Amino acid sequence: MWQYTTNQKKAIAMGFVFRLEDYPNYLRRVGEAIYLDVSRRTDPARIEQVWVNLRAVVEAFGAPWIVQLWTKDAATALKRGGALLQVLQREGTTVTAQVTVTGLGGTTWEPRVPAEPFAGVAELIALVGGPDHIKWRYDPIIPTVHRLDRFRRLAEHAARLGIRRCVLNFIARPGRYKRVDARLAGVLPGWAAGMPGYDESWQVHTASELVQAASEYGLTVAVCAEVAGLADKVQGLHPAACGDYAWFVALSGRDPGRAATSGSRPGCGCAAYFDVGMYGQWHRCHGCLYCYAG
Ligand code: SF4
Repeated sequence: MWQYTTNQKKAIAMGFVFRLEDYPNYLRRVGEAIYLDVSRRTDPARIEQVWVNLRAVVEAFGAPWIVQLWTKDAATALKRGGALLQVLQREGTTVTAQVTVTGLGGTTWEPRVPAEPFAGVAELIALVGGPDHIKWRYDPIIPTVHRLDRFRRLAEHAARLGIRRCVLNFIARPGRYKRVDARLAGVLPGWAAGMPGYDESWQVHTASELVQAASEYGLTVAVCAEVAGLADKVQGLHPAACGDYAWFVALSGRDPGRAATSGSRPGCGCAAYFDVGMYGQWHRCHGCLYCYAG
């Protein structure tokens, strides 16, 4: 029989590792509001097991209300899982996607992410039923690496695809994740010294610029839970819920009744979700330098 390590047992206790046997409890909690994330924990474009897990859930328990894809490589995600997503759609599932594009694909920051921004997103839009099903994540914003002109080019590209929603997130501060600190200390000047100047006023200034730039391309901008407080300080910036219940209801045309949840972290407004992925895949995933999920 498979033996879990102490760390894996801790991760399981916290609900951070997919186990099919946890799914019935989730179903009891949420009723008809069944929403699967594929996956916040690793990229299904790189890790086939995520699709195997999704298939196992569907075969055992049927199609959920919502499946939300998370990827930095839509083209490869579709190759791996497009057929399964189509089956789910035929069975009544609404599919949405959080597509992360930072413009750093193929660089030392995201070495295995495709260099071509938004590759495969047009095909993804066609599969899911339109650009309204897609949110573009500009995540994470890294001080001294982020460039407004790069963001503008990406915003223009997203708008051409018909995408209207952008979600921002800032890199977690130095000291938050030891493994990230160890990677960044050697490549990002100032990181080891606490990244002087990387404070809330810089975030407010940066977010304000991005809201303004995005609006020129017809994009609304929301900010993820990590820095949700910024939404009160930046005009036009909205609080994001990555598992956005109201968005799911609007897209599916169905309100199954929202289940109570505490969210994934303080400030998180996400609907109760079940993630079919697992942490600890950094070496097989895109190898992003800022990754804390590895
Ligand atoms: S390496 Fe980490 S940050 Fe990069 S795509 Fe995979 S899980 Fe996400």
